[in-house]
Amino acid sequence: MEPVSLYFHIPFCRSRCAYCDFTTAAGCDALIPAYLDALLSEIRGVKEAAGRLLPAHTVYFGGGTPSLIPLEGYNRLFEAIREAFELTVDAEITLEANPGTVDGDYLRGLRQAGFNRISFGMQSAWPEELALLGRRHSHLEVIRAVNQARTAGFEQVSLDLIYGLPGQGLDSWRFSVERALELNPDHLSLYSLTVEPGTPLAAWVGRGLLPEPDADQAARMYTWARARLARAGMAQYEISNWGRRLSRGKIALCRHNRHYWRREPYFGFGAGAHGFLEGWRVSNTPDTAAYIRRCGEQKRESLAFSPACETRLKLDARTEMEEVMFLGLRLTREGVSEARFLAQTGRELRQVYGREIDELVKWGMLTWKGRRLVLTARGQRLGNQVFLRFLHDQETTTRVPRLILYHSSGLITGVVQR
Ligand code: SF4
Repeated sequence: MEPVSLYFHIPFCRSRCAYCDFTTAAGCDALIPAYLDALLSEIRGVKEAAGRLLPAHTVYFGGGTPSLIPLEGYNRLFEAIREAFELTVDAEITLEANPGTVDGDYLRGLRQAGFNRISFGMQSAWPEELALLGRRHSHLEVIRAVNQARTAGFEQVSLDLIYGLPGQGLDSWRFSVERALELNPDHLSLYSLTVEPGTPLAAWVGRGLLPEPDADQAARMYTWARARLARAGMAQYEISNWGRRLSRGKIALCRHNRHYWRREPYFGFGAGAHGFLEGWRVSNTPDTAAYIRRCGEQKRESLAFSPACETRLKLDARTEMEEVMFLGLRLTREGVSEARFLAQTGRELRQVYGREIDELVKWGMLTWKGRRLVLTARGQRLGNQVFLRFLHDQETTTRVPRLILYHSSGLITGVVQR
């Protein structure tokens, strides 16, 4: 069996950021001990269901704020992970962290527990923008956290930035990117802000207190950043992600997220976590208390279905083909190869999507690199329009406009009718 990936969702946050609609439990730290017990039980359930050690090559703790979990909690979790999974020798083990929540001792402890990669949510270098977003840290804390992570021996340090804020100018975006580059990150993720319904940010925009984010301005920011990061020697490998160039043509990319985009199987542990196993897309209940209760009271149904499983979707052949396209094309270097399409769907790429591909190549959105199809620079800017061309309604064969939802990590969280 090919190695799987493991995603752990840690929903706890000190407070809720103004733009956030992720599964979070702000101000619920009292639940952390019970939540850890529930995670341990969910991991052990996999061990029982599998009946053998499953190989795993990446582990990712995302959130929420995973850096709120005490070291002792991570030591217990890794003990259980190693009893249920055989981690490959070069396994990539990532923690997402908020810069204001770590210090040197904690980072050293994380390193000893097994983490080798850390991703800090920097978001902006401007105090005003951090305040607008509801972030609790300062840029000084980002600088300190990155230095402490390097001293602690992390092999990869990644930074997240957000652009396209209401009223944000190109100059302020350039300033944040330059401050990020000064920290010599191994990896950078640049995410365009989306105003999610139900968030304080959406309410401020709705009441006219803030301007609507300007999509054209965001496109200019993205285009500028692509050129700037290329000049800085960073290699883009995904629409929103760049890695430092390593020796022998390698890139310091996030192998865990690449695993999602390649559509390879992964387990999702924790409240609201998504998984992809045995052809099923599954997700756990996002309710933290319900998650704890169900993991405590119920047994795992099968390898794919956690006791906390809330949604399960068996992918049909058409959806599988769509997914191969709109996930794989996000990988700007690798794209979708004819071989991968055939291996994952049993069909020939050109037979299924020949007309769409020819059109998109003619419009300058896609290009062939040997036998791999990749997005052009124009296609990257207009990614969702390209992806929509590969979505079908199976019964009527008419194109159905649907919205592809992504978590900030790029993880697909759903495809909905619009
Ligand atoms: S953006 Fe991140 S840190 Fe802020 S509330 Fe959401 S999950 Fe927590």
